[in-house]
Amino acid sequence: MLRVDLRSFLSNPVFFIEISRILGGISKIVALKPFELQSLEAEFCKRNGLKAFFLDLKVSRILGDSKISPMTLFVVTRDKKFLKAIQRVENRVLSGELSFQKGRRRLIELEGKLFGYPECCVKAYARSKSNIPLETKLIIECFESGTFKSLLASLKNSRIDFFPQFFTMNFYPCHLECRKAKRVGIKLVKFLGDFENAFKLRTMLNALYLLRVAYKSTFYNGNLSKKAKEFFNLQDGDVLGMLEAIVDVDYELFSNKFIKRVLQFR
Ligand SMILES: [Zn+2]
Repeated sequence: MLRVDLRSFLSNPVFFIEISRILGGISKIVALKPFELQSLEAEFCKRNGLKAFFLDLKVSRILGDSKISPMTLFVVTRDKKFLKAIQRVENRVLSGELSFQKGRRRLIELEGKLFGYPECCVKAYARSKSNIPLETKLIIECFESGTFKSLLASLKNSRIDFFPQFFTMNFYPCHLECRKAKRVGIKLVKFLGDFENAFKLRTMLNALYLLRVAYKSTFYNGNLSKKAKEFFNLQDGDVLGMLEAIVDVDYELFSNKFIKRVLQFR
């Protein structure tokens, strides 16, 4: 169970929710927004045997033709060996020992495992590199299943909903109803104990993030934009105004503020 006082928790809910994936035995690594050496977050990590590192990556994990796109992640882990395992595969790709395609696939699978994502979802993500992006497929599923509709209804009525399969950002379940992905969220909500509502809100915000991606797609033409336009044409001004307000915000900062505001008044 996560042990922290409410005041500390509310100062950075996303941090505590993410770190709980390690403390709860779900993940070996989590990627976070960097925090200062002298901070509540650093202090909490130290107390719990966790270490923070900057991880420099070069091989592009993102869809597209570019093979090299340098990126730095800020990660927290119990043991540096997990980061070394990633770096070893990177080096084999960069030296040409492993082909780019194979290497990228191996990196996605290895990181998926270390981040604690279900294998079916990681495989689907790796496969989607050569096909329709998994994110797009998932968003279309959310439109068709009425998930976005019920999310908006909950937000409008200040109702807390729970989407266990959206347990973190930048993770895409292989299907909206993936049982393994939902199981991760359910395990995490149990670990969070008294903070379960914060986590449930976070899953709503993660679902809302997908809706924001869909909203942005309406400015362009593509697979998603037609479906998204149909959906947004049926929405009232409040919904469109809200999306307009969050379209460019730092989503983690927004999520923290949102969770804090809701929980302070409950
Ligand atoms: Zn899955």
